[in-house]
Amino acid sequence: MPIYELVCKACGHEENLLCSWEKRQEAVCSQCGSDGLTQKYTSIGIIGSKSGASSASAAPPRQSGFT
Ligand SMILES: [Zn+2]
Repeated sequence: MPIYELVCKACGHEENLLCSWEKRQEAVCSQCGSDGLTQKYTSIGIIGSKSGASSASAAPPRQSGFT
């Protein structure tokens, strides 16, 4: 299970949540009960999909013998 480091926007209370993503969605601040918990940092680093520009220069077959 992932650990979510959350910060309450209302009171600034920091919370470490070890739970599933679904539970994290409905997590509330244990200090003030606010649901305005924001992630301290995003651990999900989306590595850009490299667009491999491997342009296969497939030359069309020439018809030889045609004059
Ligand atoms: Zn709070």
